Amino acid sequence: MKLLLPDALHARPADLLVRRAAELPARVVVHCRGKRADARKILEVLALGAQKGESVELESDDPESLAAIAALITQEFDPDLVPARAASVVEGIAIGHAVVLVDDDDGAGAGTVAEERARVVAAFACTRSDVSALLARLPAAEAALFAPELTILEALEGAVLARVEGGERATDAVRGEASGGPTDLVDDARQRLLDAIRGTVGARERRLAETAQPTVLVVEGVTPSLVAVLPAHVVGVIAVTEDEAAGTSHAAILARGRGLPLAYVAPHVAAGIEDGAALILDTTTAPARIWSGPSETTLADATRRRDALAADARVAEAQASTPLALVAVRVNVGSTRDHVPAGAEGIGLLRTELVFADRERPPSEDEQAEAYGVVAAKTTGPVVIRLFDAGGDKPLAFLPGEARGIALLRAHPGVLAAQLRAIARVDRGAVLIPLVRGREDVDAVRALAPSGLAIGAMVETPEAAGDIDALAAAADFVCIGTNDLSCETLGIARAAGPDALDPRVLAHVRRTVEGAHARGRKVTVCGEIAGDPRGARVLVGLGVDALSVAPARFAPLKLALAGVTLEHCRTSSRSHLP
Ligand code: PEP
Ligand code: MG
Repeated sequence: MKLLLPDALHARPADLLVRRAAELPARVVVHCRGKRADARKILEVLALGAQKGESVELESDDPESLAAIAALITQEFDPDLVPARAASVVEGIAIGHAVVLVDDDDGAGAGTVAEERARVVAAFACTRSDVSALLARLPAAEAALFAPELTILEALEGAVLARVEGGERATDAVRGEASGGPTDLVDDARQRLLDAIRGTVGARERRLAETAQPTVLVVEGVTPSLVAVLPAHVVGVIAVTEDEAAGTSHAAILARGRGLPLAYVAPHVAAGIEDGAALILDTTTAPARIWSGPSETTLADATRRRDALAADARVAEAQASTPLALVAVRVNVGSTRDHVPAGAEGIGLLRTELVFADRERPPSEDEQAEAYGVVAAKTTGPVVIRLFDAGGDKPLAFLPGEARGIALLRAHPGVLAAQLRAIARVDRGAVLIPLVRGREDVDAVRALAPSGLAIGAMVETPEAAGDIDALAAAADFVCIGTNDLSCETLGIARAAGPDALDPRVLAHVRRTVEGAHARGRKVTVCGEIAGDPRGARVLVGLGVDALSVAPARFAPLKLALAGVTLEHCRTSSRSHLP
């Protein structure tokens, strides 16, 4: 195929050509003036030296690949034909203006050693005073647990200053000394120090509050607490990461609950997004795609696809409103804004730590009762409210300490008691205990709970599964958290996306179901695998009574299970766990 070049193949058009070619199934060769270049190789394409108006010939075994490159050339290297690539974490289409909160911290470059030293000293002074102010606001017992941050700051200051004396910039020195620490108080200290050095204390919140326009947020790291407190005008999130996307990270779970498209990109992709630019994020394809500053046509096309997706979801939800004979299907929610489909047979998991992720002080009993009541009003079914499950990637400022789940909460008995009283005020409310370690946790919670409140134990470790007889005797119902259970069983971090269908994990599920049923207790699974049709079949085959899934997965899952029999499910589970 012969074409005339509308532009010389200099760096930008050549880059577009190579990026487009990289996505195509077959190789395309470009011939010009007797030279040839593989369209996927930037140096070969540049070496053609092809000029505007010159004739090039394209060659490929695949007509579609050929047509795609020809379209890019005839459409004058329109960048909309070559969107940036991203890893899809939560599916959807978001259209808005970019708010870029990537820490390109170092803007001004390195100062002299004396200047960098002065920045460090000022940042430590500011951070110490902020932390002290926080401690003064906290009740004494909690301040005591939070106080180590002051000691951590003290220990860091000398080491950070030594790095600066050695020629490092203030921000690099802070990162170097305070990264990957054994406690999240070190992470907290790092973020505070970096904000203080850059003069950006509280800047994220202020920046997002500046506009009410639909916004696609571009951030360096995405944490559950960030997603939990995003204002409603944030319609999508692009996060920079070098790692693989993991759908079971808490940030992903929370974004999915809100129907908030989320993608991970490499640093150079985020660097190419201009603050304020119109942005389309489409995570419905693999890889996900990002258009920065798209044309009117591309924008109109994306808007049409986004609206069609929403209409399809509404239709699917209407079709999925009848209960299945096979298994009850409930939803997991993490905020008072989460959508609860009309057909949902209750809330199987309310992640309360996400509802109050932005608080420095514990929410009062009244505030909690009100928030949980808002969620309960969205369903006529049971409302299973999990006690604050903090620690790990879900730090809560008002629950300091290094433990996780119920172990951490029991170190704060006042907070635990107030939460139990709040839950008891919720119509159809029940309590769920996260990361339960044994019967003693259930008994301790029951002793503090107003009488008559149903109490569920969450099995999230092999030890809890092994102790199911005692746990089921003490609890009123059981819920299996397969996200944590698979990490704990396989010894893999959540971000690595462990496989909940591994036979070692399923063996714990089977044991838990059998032990709970022997005591007449119902079992729900509320990990992400419950929302996957294949996973759901295996779980139902193992005898679970209910599945609790992200709202966005509710309708597709129910439609996928329509017509599936218990016998099909048993066959699926036998194939995974003979
Ligand atoms: C789980 O671990 O499976 C679970 C549902 O809890 P979370 O994802 O909130 O840790
Ligand atoms: Mg868990």
